[in-house]
Amino acid sequence: MKINALVAVDAAKPLTSGDITLRPLQNQDVKIDILYCGVCHSDLHMARNEWAVSRYPLVPGHEIVGRVSATGTGVSAFQVGDIVGVGVMVDSCRECHFCKQHEEQYCEAGFTATYNGIDKYTGESTWGGYAESVIVDQDFVVSVPHNLPLAGVAPLLCAGVTVWSPLRHFNVKAGDAVGVVGLGGLGHMAVKLASAMGAEVTLFTTSPEKGEDARRLGAKRVVVSRDAAQMAACHTSLDFIIDCVAAPHDLDPYLATLKTNGRLVLVGIPDQPHASPNITPMVFRRLSISGSSIGSIRETQEMLDFCGQHGITADVEMIGGEAIESAFARMLKGDVKYRFVIDMQATRW
Ligand code: NAP
Ligand code: ZN
Ligand code: ZN
Repeated sequence: MKINALVAVDAAKPLTSGDITLRPLQNQDVKIDILYCGVCHSDLHMARNEWAVSRYPLVPGHEIVGRVSATGTGVSAFQVGDIVGVGVMVDSCRECHFCKQHEEQYCEAGFTATYNGIDKYTGESTWGGYAESVIVDQDFVVSVPHNLPLAGVAPLLCAGVTVWSPLRHFNVKAGDAVGVVGLGGLGHMAVKLASAMGAEVTLFTTSPEKGEDARRLGAKRVVVSRDAAQMAACHTSLDFIIDCVAAPHDLDPYLATLKTNGRLVLVGIPDQPHASPNITPMVFRRLSISGSSIGSIRETQEMLDFCGQHGITADVEMIGGEAIESAFARMLKGDVKYRFVIDMQATRW
């Protein structure tokens, strides 16, 4: 079935309206008519081939909220009309150690990405959410709580779960002093989720004008990271930091803010590596640096349910799909409050 989508045809050209063919509905499949799709910085990295793995044509988008419009004969979990979400994964091997323990994001065969992955039925590319519809195996579809505004739910499917997963995995708890680096899509969700968990949040930003927003979102302290005196005032004050920056930067000033046994978790994936940090403070204060990849389907559902209970959604700026290139340009300048979301019904194809 052919549908409209925003298509990247190569790394140098703007996304344009085009059509793509979805796979035929399989027994386990859910067809979702997309209402909203968030614009993740990963979409920009991929559209521009900044990670050197993009295959064109490519349809970005992995923060999908929509309405089920058809189900395969074997689908039991969802019905036509349900409001559901799809994030960064649409399949995995289901047999390896990590799939069996419900951590598909670390599938040893590599999970099937929502876009730019290989569809196991067609052998062709998977197509993302900058489109009218998507067809996804029911095991990779999550339920959206009924009480939340749907446009603000879309960014939870990647930005939300990507910060939720390490907060949970590393047992961040009420009273912990948590730093968040970068107030973008991921960072603003980290501020909201960590503060809802009861952590005392410090936001590090390169944009002093975001301070007021950061406090409104839940930060207790805002630190301008380019101001050495403000950074020095944070010395050994934090238990845990989540770094959400999309560009290479010096990690040492952040390591300096960690207490003994502290941990810096990197979730940003810049196109160039960060310079190696200074190991000495890591040794003398037993510091850790970790990475973390999105989150599992279980964690995604757990995070959505938590957001339903706490009334948490992303702060979004709505656009029609035709405005995607100006949204990308603003995102590159850190000028997003705090996630662009494409309104599919308002999009002129
Ligand atoms: P975003 O909305 O563009 O936010 C990035 C923020 O980083 C900016 O708002 C800015 O915040 C800060 N920043 C500081 N210096 C910067 C610079 N030189 N260039 C750009 N930003 C700078 O991006 P996002 O969608 O949150 O994604 C952040 C990163 O996470 C991306 O690399 C993305 O690919 C990656 N990601 C990883 C995973 C994963 O599984 N680990 C999942 C999703 C996304 P301030 O203005 O506050 O400084
Ligand atoms: Zn993403
Ligand atoms: Zn697997």
